[in-house]
Amino acid sequence: MRDYWRSEPLRCLIGREEIAAVVEELAGRISSDYQGEVGIEEPLLMVGILKGAATFLSDIVRAIPLPTALDFMAVSSYGASTTSSGVVRILHDLGSSIEGRHVIIVEDIVDTGLTLQYLQQHLAGRGPASLRVCALLDKPDRREVEVEIDYCGRQVPDEFLVGYGLDLDERYRDLPFVAVIESEGEETT
Ligand code: 5GP
Repeated sequence: MRDYWRSEPLRCLIGREEIAAVVEELAGRISSDYQGEVGIEEPLLMVGILKGAATFLSDIVRAIPLPTALDFMAVSSYGASTTSSGVVRILHDLGSSIEGRHVIIVEDIVDTGLTLQYLQQHLAGRGPASLRVCALLDKPDRREVEVEIDYCGRQVPDEFLVGYGLDLDERYRDLPFVAVIESEGEETT
């Protein structure tokens, strides 16, 4: 393990193999749902929400054997704190129109649901042919607004997670697994 990963004690919650299995399973469901709906002229548009979903998005598009196109949005979420501000702002918008396109929003994790609710409402207003959501992780205990996740990888407990794209002040995104940061005195692996 690289040394800087040790600056806080970590407990692995979802290992590399389990993540790979979840990605394959979600990609399989998406492929069978969009088979015949998308093609080279009209690829499935996968919209990754930066920065957290970049790792998941890059893995899942390679597991979907259909034509896909990528775009990204960045919205404000957590700053240096580990609690949600509840404020959603677009920091970086899509590069092209989604009108008439089949679109999937790709999220790392759904927590309060505020970010996703905003994105769904906002993007639905741009006239896509369809709009669905794929999230690697879901923290249902923290939900403040009801949101539908069409393709959900794993439900997770109400703990602050890092790794596989998820950060703590920009650190840990490069961990190849999802981990919980333990409080002082708890056991590490
Ligand atoms: P929501 O709007 O659903 O409360 O928050 C969604 C966003 O908050 C996620 O896309 C992610 O960036 C961030 N987030 C939520 N839970 C966690 C967590 O456990 N760890 C990290 N690193 N980010 C989280």
